[in-house]
Amino acid sequence: MSAVLEGIPASPGVAVGPAYLFRLREPVVPHITIPPDLVEAELEKFEAAREWATRRILQLKEEAHQRLGPIQAKIFDPQLLMLDDPALVEGTIAYIRDSYLTAARAFNLRILEMRAQWLNTTHAMLVDRIADLTDTQILVLSKILDLPEPELGVSPQVPVIVVAPELTPRVVVRLDRSVVAGFVTGGGTRTAHASILARSLHIPAVVGVGDEIERIAPGMELLVDGRRGRVFLQPSAHDKEWFERHEEKVREWEAELADLAHVQPITEDGVRIELLANIDLPSEAALAVHAGADGIGLLRTEFLVVGKSSIPEEEEQFDAFREIAQAMGSRPVMVRTFDLGGDKFPLFLEIPPEENPSLGWRAIRVTLDMPELFRKQLRAILRAGVYGRLQICLPMINSADELRATRELLEESKEELRREGKVFDEFCPLGIMVETPAAVATAEVLARHADFFSLGTNDLTQYALAVDRGNPRLARYYDPFHPGVVRLIRQTIEAANAASIPVSICGEMASDVAGAFLLIGLGMRSLSVNLNAITEIKKLVRSVRADRAQEAAARAADAETGDEARNILMEELAEAVDLSLFETTNGHVPGERL
Ligand code: PEP
Ligand code: MG
Repeated sequence: MSAVLEGIPASPGVAVGPAYLFRLREPVVPHITIPPDLVEAELEKFEAAREWATRRILQLKEEAHQRLGPIQAKIFDPQLLMLDDPALVEGTIAYIRDSYLTAARAFNLRILEMRAQWLNTTHAMLVDRIADLTDTQILVLSKILDLPEPELGVSPQVPVIVVAPELTPRVVVRLDRSVVAGFVTGGGTRTAHASILARSLHIPAVVGVGDEIERIAPGMELLVDGRRGRVFLQPSAHDKEWFERHEEKVREWEAELADLAHVQPITEDGVRIELLANIDLPSEAALAVHAGADGIGLLRTEFLVVGKSSIPEEEEQFDAFREIAQAMGSRPVMVRTFDLGGDKFPLFLEIPPEENPSLGWRAIRVTLDMPELFRKQLRAILRAGVYGRLQICLPMINSADELRATRELLEESKEELRREGKVFDEFCPLGIMVETPAAVATAEVLARHADFFSLGTNDLTQYALAVDRGNPRLARYYDPFHPGVVRLIRQTIEAANAASIPVSICGEMASDVAGAFLLIGLGMRSLSVNLNAITEIKKLVRSVRADRAQEAAARAADAETGDEARNILMEELAEAVDLSLFETTNGHVPGERL
């Protein structure tokens, strides 16, 4: 048995080759101050480096556009925004002017401060932007200090596996498949830009391996299993053969899935399931259409605030929502208003750390307390609504009061827009995320005030079981198949049906094969899944019978434990589909704890 490192599956496929160790180094910045008469020269140096870095990134963006397409090219936008961010630019200028720091030192200090602030959060989206920040840092500093731009420098003899603590989009976009067979990084997440680019380039990749990456020596043979997120050190002949055969099966399976984009998700006994996508960025709307989604069941809007030092303006939000509305055409899009707080803190909130952030000032509590922030978002959604079918979805609703207060603000916003003569969607539906046990218990009350329900099982599981969803030590307790959670889901569906309002689910559970099967069995007819899981879940829907799912779900809800519930579902499913081929979104084994 070869030694295996576990990481996050970032880009599917299998690659074998010798390890090529690479480290992106941040330039060393000399600790010197300058006399006042050199301030102007240093300011000019900073400005020149900033302009150069902007041109360089625009060039890379164009390269990405040519090689991979418009969506991948957008990956470079956050870096362009950073180079224009007043917090960075004005902060650097102030350090040069007021503290007599050199341009390099002033800029570096500002970057280090921003990174420290960003690292304070555990929110994946902010963590993902840290590689962009590092890249911007290296580019600008190398220009100021007159150093060569760091390159990968792989000799094109034999395709290698690049092993690095971190890879940035700038490095990844230039990787050539004939030279680089795969990559492994210590840091990174599945949604980091480097991972997204790896998927576009079809380069197998495993990220987030952690310190274990140190076990890899230069030239050591590696097998990268990008589908499951594993790296085999010095793989045996048996391992290599097994993967070769498995990959063959996977290729056939993928070809079958690719054909599914334009067929409908209908169960074997004729029940049509609405299959929507969860997205985090405007550019993903086009991908959802391409994958054959019926609409967007969850648009997380936190991309608008990540790394921002001020409240996002209405126009910027309007542009983003209009882009999505237009991309989706007549398909529905549920825009979730800012779910800030908890694990998602933008810089402008500036509140002291809380003892229990998940139970703290978050989501609807923040937006209702900050009407200026909320109003801008509501106005932007209302205005963009005329370009498609946008719906407003409120996170963490616990009471009818929160809904009433939001409706009031919504009506005021409409009145303002009318006065200003702006066009907007007068009938934009207002629904809620059902993600607390209190919301489930009072679902029939909330249904009188909400136009639709969207079940957020990620949070519902955490609050129902009192298990922090982000705590790895508690992962075995975090179980959406726990009969307690399953019954809450069932209760919510029943309440929505009784009130004749639409209900869908956008928690991770719907992206899991066993989870989706259970939900169909509980009567859910609208699943919003991770973008990458759409075709697999469609395949699942088309392979099962809703009546069999209903029987299995009834037994699962009556099970004594989550494990028992899961086993019931897996046994039933195994008769209908080849479970070994389903990967679902996180590369986990279907039905394993999510
Ligand atoms: C949820 O809680 O299930 C959900 C979809 O929202 P988020 O994961 O963004 O909290
Ligand atoms: Mg949630």
